[in-house]
Amino acid sequence: MIFVNKSIPYWNPYLETLSREDLEELQLRKFQRILDWTYKQSKFHRTLYQNAGLVPHDIKSLDDVRLVPKVEKSMMRDVQRKEPFPYGDALCVPLDEVTEFRQTSGTTGQPVYQADTWQDWEWWAECWATLLWAQGYRPDDRVFLPFGYNVFVAFWAAHYASEKIGCETVPGGILDTQARILKMQEVGATAMMATPTYVLGMADTAVNKLGIDPAQLHINKITCAGEPGALILSTKKRIEELWKAKVFDHSGATEIGAWGFECASQSGGLHVNEAMFLAEIEDLDTGQIITEPGKPGKLVITALDRIAQPCVRFDSKDIVELDSCQCNCGRTYKLFKGGVIGRADDITKVKGVLLAPSAIEGVVRSMPELGNEYEVTVDKRKDIDHISLKVEVGVSSEGELRRIEGKLKTELRLKTNLGYDIQFFQLGTLPRYEVKAKRFKDLRKKG
Ligand SMILES: [Zn+2]
Repeated sequence: MIFVNKSIPYWNPYLETLSREDLEELQLRKFQRILDWTYKQSKFHRTLYQNAGLVPHDIKSLDDVRLVPKVEKSMMRDVQRKEPFPYGDALCVPLDEVTEFRQTSGTTGQPVYQADTWQDWEWWAECWATLLWAQGYRPDDRVFLPFGYNVFVAFWAAHYASEKIGCETVPGGILDTQARILKMQEVGATAMMATPTYVLGMADTAVNKLGIDPAQLHINKITCAGEPGALILSTKKRIEELWKAKVFDHSGATEIGAWGFECASQSGGLHVNEAMFLAEIEDLDTGQIITEPGKPGKLVITALDRIAQPCVRFDSKDIVELDSCQCNCGRTYKLFKGGVIGRADDITKVKGVLLAPSAIEGVVRSMPELGNEYEVTVDKRKDIDHISLKVEVGVSSEGELRRIEGKLKTELRLKTNLGYDIQFFQLGTLPRYEVKAKRFKDLRKKG
């Protein structure tokens, strides 16, 4: 049993409060170490660096890091299914040392396989332990994981980290939603982790199928992961009110690790776990690295300690923005304002206006008249961009529907500067998702 002092607000008080100077020194040393490791151990990385005319010794400062070529997900797809099968030559350890197989969800194409050693797996748990502790998880919590564990990394590391910090951990694996809610009620779970979409769906099921008010369960904190939402204020508020619980955001990915977390201070952003990750923000137009707050860009990230299939300057496609404010939790780690505010793939121009799907979610979830689900479709009609928005309502009077439609259109116009064709559906009729909700469809991309 690891000794833990419950009153200390940090999982690792030393790392989480390092001075910026010491933190950056640590990041540089770790970056040099992982770069050297990949250069020596993997043909994929060595070829990448050699083609850029770079040797690890060239990196002498954090500013030099940008000289290292980025790795795109498509590059990882290309090297895979080759020897050593199935990871290909990006693998940096003998196959015998691999203990974990995971794969990406494949939402954007062929899934990418991810190898981890036991050392990597302990690192995953340590990353998650940092975030759970920061969100107030303590050994007296009984944590429920309402998630179908499988080949995706989702919530596996959360499970191990929950155990590592001493929580009693209850796997909700193969149970269906109703059985999960009943089990949470039966054991008196105090915390849970799921995607924001699923947390909202569970509340629906609890009320409509079981006659249980989720606020009457004992859940006092919910960690959301897998998709944005917990930092979209209207979504956070909706979940917090339904469950009478604090809702926290977390961000990570199979190829990267658990890199970002909202802390108990809830200052409206995600901390980067900078002792374990090096996060850079790249300007979407110029490709330059953004070092000052105020401009969003694409997150390029390095997992500083992951050894089997390392993540060095990975192009995450997540859009983030540095916060100019300090969080009052005392951590020295950078804060990304509003968390992951979009995906480079999803942010699209409609009628010449930049549209982030999260902005639409913000509006829909801020209107109590509307259900939790929605769906956005962008297409072309007579060569003009057209947006349809499907929402759920619980009323059927024509007058009331027109009032809601007017209010929704006005709010959307204010927040996104665009007009929408609104379609109403009965509550509970739009598709529900457990992971990776597919609510935004851009049909123009299919030509
Ligand atoms: Zn904080």
